[in-house]
Amino acid sequence: MLLTTLTGCADTAAPDAPPAASAAPSAPEQAPAQWSYEGDTGPQHWGELADEFTTCSTGTAQSPIDVPGDPVLSSSPIEIDYTPADFQARDTGHTVELHALSPQSITVDGTEYTFQQMHYHAPSEHTVDGVNYAAEFHFVHRSEDGDLAVVGVLAAEGQHNAAWSSVADAVPASAEQDSPAVEGLTLTSLLPESLDHYVYGGSLTTPPCSEDVRWLLLQNPVELGAAQIGALRSAHAENNRPVQPLNDREVSEVDQ
Ligand SMILES: [Zn+2]
Repeated sequence: MLLTTLTGCADTAAPDAPPAASAAPSAPEQAPAQWSYEGDTGPQHWGELADEFTTCSTGTAQSPIDVPGDPVLSSSPIEIDYTPADFQARDTGHTVELHALSPQSITVDGTEYTFQQMHYHAPSEHTVDGVNYAAEFHFVHRSEDGDLAVVGVLAAEGQHNAAWSSVADAVPASAEQDSPAVEGLTLTSLLPESLDHYVYGGSLTTPPCSEDVRWLLLQNPVELGAAQIGALRSAHAENNRPVQPLNDREVSEVDQ
């Protein structure tokens, strides 16, 4: 079923490809090989699907992970530089991404990372001491050198969350959106009050699973209402890669 959706996506997207590419030269490259979250093209097989996906099976610093119960303390606070912006939604066939129409950034350890897009996985990809969550949002940022910093926000099902309404509303309808799907949103309003977070070096959780990602996983989940989680899941669900071996990596905890 997912493969059918993907094929449909690729077919309809093809005629638009040249203008889209010239209009947005910095857009993330589209992987030519098809992958999914189940069966022969699922996570266990990503590494075999294309040469450029090999790291998915041979990498030793892959994401997501189960965050261990006793991380070491560290100090590299996240400096947030988000401002009100309009956002365009784009269904990639695996998730829905929100792209900001004006520049947004964060700074970590003196390096500035520019916001690329925010998307979600349901249920969560990271687990914390074995516990998983209803959803996980990835705020993807890239430095001038091409290194990635992803702020992960876990979401638990609970009370309706007004701050997230515009995002939850935009997701299922994104395919028909021409104008901005979300207007005047400051990304900071989507974050939990505390920016305490876990830090570790990992990878993209989707092919090509490149290992150049500084993961900043916020410790406190946000709460979303059942209908809001349902809105996300109605567009994409079970789009979570299983947790990967930690190997010899250290996970640090930053209180800020
Ligand atoms: Zn993600």
